[in-house]
Amino acid sequence: TSRIAARVQRIKPSPSSSASDRANELRRQGKSIVNLVVGEPDFDTPQHIRQAAAAAMDRGETRYTLMAGTVKLREAIAAKLLRDSRLSYAIDEIMATAGGKNTIYTAFAITLAQGDEVIVPAPYWVSYPDMVLACDGQPVPVACPEANGFKLTGAQLAAAITPRTRWLLLNSPSNPTGAAYTVEEYRALADVLVRHPQVMVMTDDIYEHIRYDGQRTPHFLEAAPELRERTLVINSLSKTYAMTGWRISYVAGPRDLIKAFDTMLSQSTGNPCSISQAAAVEALNGDQSFVAHSVEIYKQRRDATLARINAIPGLSCLPPAGAFYLYINCAGLIGKTTPQGRTLAEDGDLVMYLLESEGVALVAGTAYGLSPFFRMSIATSIDILEEGCTRIARAVAALQ
Ligand code: PLP
Repeated sequence: TSRIAARVQRIKPSPSSSASDRANELRRQGKSIVNLVVGEPDFDTPQHIRQAAAAAMDRGETRYTLMAGTVKLREAIAAKLLRDSRLSYAIDEIMATAGGKNTIYTAFAITLAQGDEVIVPAPYWVSYPDMVLACDGQPVPVACPEANGFKLTGAQLAAAITPRTRWLLLNSPSNPTGAAYTVEEYRALADVLVRHPQVMVMTDDIYEHIRYDGQRTPHFLEAAPELRERTLVINSLSKTYAMTGWRISYVAGPRDLIKAFDTMLSQSTGNPCSISQAAAVEALNGDQSFVAHSVEIYKQRRDATLARINAIPGLSCLPPAGAFYLYINCAGLIGKTTPQGRTLAEDGDLVMYLLESEGVALVAGTAYGLSPFFRMSIATSIDILEEGCTRIARAVAALQ
């Protein structure tokens, strides 16, 4: 018998972290690596946000805060939800938390009983199914094909719901596809959900501001205000403000769920970092020009990279509406043979070949629940992206 608990034995380390570790290991061995794995802005946190943190330290804001986060921060979050999505939440319906990752995990931890089901539209962020498993739940992936823009339809949702369904997880714009739901598409899902009061909705809004089509990202609750009492709004400052290291996120929702969050976090992580909270107040209330500026740069990268990828025979990619990834269809390369005589039977084989032959690190579609695809992060410089595309084109040209 192992001394490691079953809840850990049923999960695996994040595939994107593993792919990144493998690329870094090869780089240490002296291989030239183009790392297109990491989903992290390559920008520094804007200076006015860093200064707010420094000022907070100097003022002595280095102690425990309220468990739910400072009142100032929760007021800033409430104002943000109203400003961006016309959602009205009181301070006691909001908690500041230490990272979107832990927040989604905790949402499952406080609600799932053994065998409860969570509908996860695929392709999905790699962590969702494992978080559900770690909390004794059963992930129910629903494949959302490229032909439907990688989006869940009402009919698919209706077919996936059972009496054990507790959550539908929504992530728009999506990691890894960049697909974003419209109000009408949300409404079609809501029309199904109104018939199934046992199902709650969790929205992971982390990429809401990273959009390339000039559209504002509508919130699910704007399409379905009547589902407010069974919807949990989760968001994070990591991607919008290039604040991945600060570990600041938040959750807004009905009071019973927020109270359960408070109880659980008071016995686990405790309050989020006091200094990061002060920085987050400035991020949310202060000058927003960094957001538009960084999105413009992501857009130039997206356009340039998309054109390069779509010019490679055997590869194709839909333009992502948001987030900073390309989810690239590689069906045209499956079955081909490498110069070493290996047959590419699945997307994982192609990703391995690209790493070994040209040093390009990517993540295979198997990790996201929809194959044959691979994910390329565009949160890196245009030079690195150009070099990556050149290497991919060369490796593909060498296939038989
Ligand atoms: N949700 C999605 C879809 C993500 O891509 C990520 C990070 O990669 C997270 C949540 C978690 O981000 P953080 O824990 O930094 O808030």
